Amino acid sequence: MKTNLLEFDLLGLQTFCESLGEKRFRAQQLFRWIHQRGESDFDRMSDLALPFRALLLQHAKVEGLDPVATHKSKDGTIKWLFSVGENNAIETVFIPEDDRGTLCISSQVGCAVGCRFCSTGHQGFSRNLTTAEIIAQLWMAEHQLRRQSGQNARVISNVVMMGMGEPLQNYSALLPALKTMLDDHGYGLSRRRVTVSTSGVVPMIDRLGQDCPVALAVSLHAPTDPLRNGLVPLNLKYPLTELLQACSRYLAHAPRDFITFEYCMLAGVNDQAAHAQALIDLVTQHAQGKGLSCKFNLIPFNPFPASGLVRSEPGVVQRFAQQLQQAGIVTTVRKTRGDDIDAACGQLAGDVVDRTHAVERMTKHRTIDLVSVSS
Ligand code: SAH
Ligand code: SF4
Repeated sequence: MKTNLLEFDLLGLQTFCESLGEKRFRAQQLFRWIHQRGESDFDRMSDLALPFRALLLQHAKVEGLDPVATHKSKDGTIKWLFSVGENNAIETVFIPEDDRGTLCISSQVGCAVGCRFCSTGHQGFSRNLTTAEIIAQLWMAEHQLRRQSGQNARVISNVVMMGMGEPLQNYSALLPALKTMLDDHGYGLSRRRVTVSTSGVVPMIDRLGQDCPVALAVSLHAPTDPLRNGLVPLNLKYPLTELLQACSRYLAHAPRDFITFEYCMLAGVNDQAAHAQALIDLVTQHAQGKGLSCKFNLIPFNPFPASGLVRSEPGVVQRFAQQLQQAGIVTTVRKTRGDDIDAACGQLAGDVVDRTHAVERMTKHRTIDLVSVSS
């Protein structure tokens, strides 16, 4: 079996080179060929010594993912569907903007958290992606877009772990992928331009702070435990107080001096003035009134069949944003991109061979209890 070199961060590749009887420093050249030049053919890695190339040919490969479909939206957003074997497929989305190019990467086939409003959550969970499958999404997108542009300049400037899956439930595979994104010999992205989004896996937020403190986005969606329990089932394990404490601890390591809270606006569920007030109280009264440094990103709900939920009206979203802003909390409303190709937040579905009976579970609990915000 040949080893896929996309599986390794630079440290891992050094160890691999040593295992072939090569000097560690050779790994750096090889890593640059793979990630900076997008090269997969060892024979074309012209400055590597011939015996080293021969060893690599024998023991290693650089293998991306198999693209089964590519869709391009009217607004320039591109969505790839990549096969990852056994009838499983994941999705990756590129979002071009004037001043940046953002790639939204998947971390799992499906997701076991099962949020009510998320298409991935409704599909259940099949398996974790490997490091190679995570980084291959960036490797393929970057070099394909670069070739298409006909220039050798970097196309992807930002990465968000906001595709399918809960990245902090696949931590061991995520970490080398993040390190490769940040490595100067890899993609050289700054820690501020790589964002991990999580539904709130508290212990892993702490681990990430220690191991690789990139920008953190936390999917909040509700100001109280009873409501959040119904929307993000992981809240039963890690309730709001614990989650906010983890966010405070993360700030000591974070590349920015705030945490981003994502909040999916669901008509009549979490979008009322009382919810906004409860959110303000939650973040400003945190830590005995010291408050938590944060920003809010309101995401208008992107509907999908079977969710049974409705997007908040634009006016309601605006009022909600203003209420937070008047309380001194920086709040933005996320523009919906790529919804004509189902590439918007929460619409990513891929193909998931569910091993968790999520569909049955979700149909049994179709309704969300509309709990009073004061409860
Ligand atoms: N599992 C991680 C990252 C993937 S989801 C997390 O939950 O944070 C990326 C973002 O899309 C999250 O903020 C999620 O709450 C949001 N999202 C999920 N479904 C959505 C939908 N249908 N409409 C709008 N946003 C959605
Ligand atoms: Fe999983 Fe995130 Fe979707 Fe929740 S919102 S089901 S954590 S991918």
